[in-house]
Amino acid sequence: MEFIFEMPTKVVAGANCIVTHSELLRRGKTALIVTGKSSAKKNGAYADVVAALTKEKITHILFDQVEENPSLETLERAKNMAATADFVIGIGGGSPLDAAKGIAIMLKHPDIGADNLIGGEKLDAVPVIAVPTTAGTGSEVTQYAIFTDHKRKTKINYGHKVFPEVAFLDATYMLNMPLGITRYTALDALSHLVESYLNTKSNAMSEVYVRMGLELLATCFKPLLSGNLSLEIRQKLLLASTYGGIAIAQTGTSLPHTCGYSLTYYENMPHGASNAILYRAYLQSFENQERVNDILQWLNQANIDELGDIIELLLAEYKIHCLEQDLKKYTDITFSNKAKLTNHPENATWDMIFEIYKKSVL
Ligand code: NAP
Ligand code: FE
Repeated sequence: MEFIFEMPTKVVAGANCIVTHSELLRRGKTALIVTGKSSAKKNGAYADVVAALTKEKITHILFDQVEENPSLETLERAKNMAATADFVIGIGGGSPLDAAKGIAIMLKHPDIGADNLIGGEKLDAVPVIAVPTTAGTGSEVTQYAIFTDHKRKTKINYGHKVFPEVAFLDATYMLNMPLGITRYTALDALSHLVESYLNTKSNAMSEVYVRMGLELLATCFKPLLSGNLSLEIRQKLLLASTYGGIAIAQTGTSLPHTCGYSLTYYENMPHGASNAILYRAYLQSFENQERVNDILQWLNQANIDELGDIIELLLAEYKIHCLEQDLKKYTDITFSNKAKLTNHPENATWDMIFEIYKKSVL
């Protein structure tokens, strides 16, 4: 048994936890708050962060222009208006949280532009605080950030390692989240947990979080299907998502996430949906069905089709059909991402990837 388990983020959970623990925001005189276009103002998270900063006599600059699947150009715009910020607070789904990490690197290294942010030597960043308002990406406890790179025509992980210093988990911000977003983000959490387990780097400690996360998600399927989502269920979804983040921080994601990038970039499919739609075929293609059966057992599902049917119902409004020639292109793109494919513990051939796409979205 050999592994390193790393989780440097302080996780604080509970209703109103940002204001209650405002002292954890003391990271400098001026904060840059990074959000999406409107949800943070509607769900109360932005107001709570401002109240906590005011309590601590910290001033702030607001950048509220992060789009879904943030582009490098957006990061550049944020950097240009925030040179005086000492630290960054990301509020929102994975898009603003990831953007906060990229901007934090550029604030620490003013000579780095968004153009040369991807790859190269690993760079440090000014402190990042994360306030997730979706329950899916786990970005509040991961070192990763995924950006849309229009030059490379894909989504790409920036390759640096910026763990948020603090993650505030307050599920009350999710109470009015539309059902569609709730569903596809929950399926993103599911896919992180599964891909961490069916992974070359899976280890004894990451597997503890996988099992706990999947058992939590199993209790959320009925409410996700009915749309009857209480605060208690929202809390479970948020915790399962954070567990998924802790698990992939150790292992990374695997094949479906690599395939999903093209469905988001070219087909405009939301991130969580773009992975989950491939799941029935992905799990069927996996040779080690003992590992798959562990997952099904923790999710309380009799077989792959039972799980596949639930995923299909949850994604009904996001179903897409692609052209065969486009699926060939997406297979080429996925197949060329060798670094990511090393996480898949079995032989990932071009034909197998194409088959997963065809069975799922032709
Ligand atoms: P998102 O792109 O951050 O947000 C999706 C939508 O949800 C936006 O319209 C947003 O509105 C809205 N929204 C957010 N919180 C809400 C709330 N509480 N109530 C109502 N609406 C709300 O979605 P996401 O799925 O969370 O994040 C996806 C991104 O995360 C992708 O770029 C993906 O690649 C990345 N990701 C990162 C990691 C990681 O480890 N770093 C892992 C997985 C995925 P506003 O725009 O108005 O805020
Ligand atoms: Fe994801």
